[in-house]
Amino acid sequence: MIKTDALIIGAGPTGLFAAHQLKLIGLNCEIVDNLDKIGGQCIELYPDKPIYDIPAIPVCTGEELTSNLINQLKPFNIKFHLGERVEEIKKNKEKWEVKTNKGTEFITPNIIIAGGVGSFEPRKFSPKECEKFENKSIFYSIKDKKIFNDKIVSIFGGGDSALDWAIELSKNSTINLIHRRDEFRGTQSSVDKVKKLEKEGKINLFTKYQLKNVKGSSSLDSIDIEHDNKELKNIKTDFVLGFFGLIMQLGPIANWDLNLDKKTIPVDTEKFETNQKGIYAIGDICSYPGKLKLILSGFHEGALAARACFKLARPNEKYRFEFTTSSKTIKNRLGVKID
Ligand SMILES: Cc1cc2nc3c(=O)[nH]c(=O)nc-3n(C[C@H](O)[C@H](O)[C@H](O)COP(=O)(O)OP(=O)(O)OC[C@H]3O[C@@H](n4cnc5c(N)ncnc54)[C@H](O)[C@@H]3O)c2cc1C
Repeated sequence: MIKTDALIIGAGPTGLFAAHQLKLIGLNCEIVDNLDKIGGQCIELYPDKPIYDIPAIPVCTGEELTSNLINQLKPFNIKFHLGERVEEIKKNKEKWEVKTNKGTEFITPNIIIAGGVGSFEPRKFSPKECEKFENKSIFYSIKDKKIFNDKIVSIFGGGDSALDWAIELSKNSTINLIHRRDEFRGTQSSVDKVKKLEKEGKINLFTKYQLKNVKGSSSLDSIDIEHDNKELKNIKTDFVLGFFGLIMQLGPIANWDLNLDKKTIPVDTEKFETNQKGIYAIGDICSYPGKLKLILSGFHEGALAARACFKLARPNEKYRFEFTTSSKTIKNRLGVKID
């Protein structure tokens, strides 16, 4: 079991800045995120879009903001547990036991939920039998593209992910690209490239088709795809990839005995504590009178929640307020040279 002064759930902008605040005041923390990358909505939903209302930064993209926040954390060597969703939270005397879906366990007096709009989950195929093949023959994201070499891969979707992977994997695999409409949503240059590869016989294109059924015992043999809700076609395939975008689900957070107001967690505005002692909620997931779902609000909420964590993590010490400009202790923590 990993012992830490505070566990942060969510590596979006709010969770990242909360980690900075915890480390500045001398507390340890670790961060868990369901996504396989750091940055929350900024990186998943709008990496290239310009943001104009981060204090003192006239303009930066979602990706630039994320890399600045990561850089700001560099002195602290924070441990991230990416691709893991926090599933269970259980009280153990004065502490909390936390467990992820990958079995990682933490014990901590403080949990900061910076879960945004919940965990991002891939939108999945509707036929129930697909679950049996998930992460074996059916995938919603790609970790190691080499497993598809010299295989037949059926890719579903009409956006950039489906098009880009069809183009990329067509170099070493036989590709079926299947989309329920005639028109693709992806960038025109990728659509043109796919059409060119189709003409060259490197991609088989099926438009107005949807997945109807999957067939196989331990691994996938073939799939049935249906044209315009009428004609069925059976095609041999080794792998199926689905790229239908992400949905946001409050998910396990709903089962942690926290007061909920619609899909948010009500908190006080002194400590950003929930109805459970030692569990705080900050960023988009929290609610209180006047709450603004803006990144700058999440930064402020993280700063206050971090100070509240200090009391539970160091019950015998007194928290001393200090400025970063003048505190030697903080400069030491940051690894800044003191003249
Ligand atoms: C298109 C768009 C444009 C925007 N433009 C602006 C703007 O100009 N200015 C501005 O201030 N704001 C803007 N926002 C809003 C801003 O992005 C959010 O306020 C901000 O991302 C909230 O940060 P967060 O860290 O609270 O949550 P998020 O960024 O949502 O991050 C939460 C993270 O928690 C993870 N998570 C949730 N549950 C679990 C769990 N159980 N286990 C593990 N991980 C979990 C999720 O996977 C996610 O990565 C915009 C939003 C969108 C969608």
